Amino acid sequence: MTNILTLRVDPKYVAELNRGYSLILKEAIQNKDLLEDEGEIIRLVDHHNRYIGTGYYGNQNKGIGWVLTTKEHEQIDQAFFNKKLTIALSHREDYFSDSNTTAFRIFNGEGDGIGGLAIDYFDGYYMVSWYSEGIYSFREHVYNALNDLVEYKAIYEKKRFDTKGQYIDQDDFVMGTEGDFPIIVKENGMNFAVNLNDGAMTGIFLDQRDVRRAIRDHYADGTNMLNTFSYTGAFSVAAALGGATKTTSVDLAKRSLAKTIEQFSVNGIDYEAQDIKVMDVFHYFKYAVRHELKFDLVVLDPPSFARTKKMTFSTAKDYPKLLADAIAITEKNGIIVASTNNASFGMKKFKTFIDQAFKETNTKYKIIDQYGLPKDFRANRDFPEFNYLKVVFIKKLN
Ligand code: SAH
Repeated sequence: MTNILTLRVDPKYVAELNRGYSLILKEAIQNKDLLEDEGEIIRLVDHHNRYIGTGYYGNQNKGIGWVLTTKEHEQIDQAFFNKKLTIALSHREDYFSDSNTTAFRIFNGEGDGIGGLAIDYFDGYYMVSWYSEGIYSFREHVYNALNDLVEYKAIYEKKRFDTKGQYIDQDDFVMGTEGDFPIIVKENGMNFAVNLNDGAMTGIFLDQRDVRRAIRDHYADGTNMLNTFSYTGAFSVAAALGGATKTTSVDLAKRSLAKTIEQFSVNGIDYEAQDIKVMDVFHYFKYAVRHELKFDLVVLDPPSFARTKKMTFSTAKDYPKLLADAIAITEKNGIIVASTNNASFGMKKFKTFIDQAFKETNTKYKIIDQYGLPKDFRANRDFPEFNYLKVVFIKKLN
């Protein structure tokens, strides 16, 4: 273990790291100027030179890297990656043996012991997401581990680390036999068309799996459903299969029309009997009020941050307003599914947004269900920021 850079942790941050917090925050390190190349191994110590953990340097949002082990003599080598992947795969055995669900996450970053790395499985194809230049420098270890441990049709990768943490456009094929996309994956018996080599997004967000099932199995039957920020319409598909009398999907992006038609079609749903609107959600709310449209089931799943020509929307600031708009067009006893993936606030705060919106609109409500990440998105439950998904089912009472 020669040449390992030793970094000193600010005393304020030591206890949290010792409790298992694995993100190395920028402000936690006092001699950051020693850092040179992303991917270098770093050793964290406290002010008395006591060992805290070993990790790697990689810039990702508010962090400069992740702790990988708290065993002082553990090497970060091929065997380390094989071990972490083996354990992660063993936690997904139930998914691998369920023929009704063929798309799920097999490795969830820090929740599986390697921050900055995520691996998703799509019916024999693997998609590796790299969240920093630093973790990307370990790619040979990760691809070797996959070669050793799984059988695959092909591997694709997403580099999610340009200057603002955005996706870097490229041909994402890594190795194997290229897929003929879209492929159709299954999720609790529903079909979804997926393309692993068409930009940052695949067509489906796997972390909402439990929510789609709840909508289909418990909330959709007989409803007139509105799906806002609908992307490929996955929630609309779940509602239609669950017996919704009609669905309306609203998304600003032009691609959403063809993609939503495709998702309905692969599920044998007549898309012409559904509404698909390519428009700004906030314009749609005004349109609905003007035409006195009301819905029994309304899904709100905005991006954490969005900018259009006319406005910016941030969930941390504008969620109550979004909810108020939704409340206005929801029937009495109707249900609003409020979702956010913003990691900067927790469930408690999210519920204050909900309370604020209902109070301001003089409406009574009851929370009837709630969801976080599904179990393949393993997250350290001691640190809620890693369990970023918050979904609340709210019944409007008057
Ligand atoms: N609910 C979707 C995922 C939403 S992703 C699902 O379950 O698959 C966020 C979507 O919001 C993107 O498709 C983006 O095009 C859309 N979007 C962002 N701002 C918008 C706006 N002002 N009006 C409508 N759609 C918007």
